[in-house]
Amino acid sequence: MTDTIFSKIIRREIPADIVYEDDEVLAFRDINPQAPLHVLFIPKVPIATLNDLTEADTLRIGKLVLAATRYAKAQGYGESGYRCVVNCNRDAGQTVFHLHLHLLAGRAMQWPPG
Ligand code: 5GP
Repeated sequence: MTDTIFSKIIRREIPADIVYEDDEVLAFRDINPQAPLHVLFIPKVPIATLNDLTEADTLRIGKLVLAATRYAKAQGYGESGYRCVVNCNRDAGQTVFHLHLHLLAGRAMQWPPG
């Protein structure tokens, strides 16, 4: 996998507003927020897209989702709700090819998404 801007954020080569970190997950505010809360949760190992997940990633992805949901609840959005989105490839609008989960909260959202 080629290096992405998110690998540079993991290595602290470019700045980011980091809100959560553990051994396997890093979370930082999206530079172009689409909701009052918009945080990106990424695995520290580079995985390009959802298509690239293997059985070996099961625990890693579970931890990624758990980190996001715990953060959402800690920020007070458990009851009102929040959205988790993972875009995969062109038609979904993926622009950074390091797998990331968008956590969006703080406003009512539409369904279906655009
Ligand atoms: P995608 O479209 O791939 O699902 O989402 C990529 C997200 O990364 C976009 O929401 C975009 O605003 C965000 N993003 C792109 N470059 C940077 C950056 O350098 N820093 C931060 N914090 N977010 C970025």
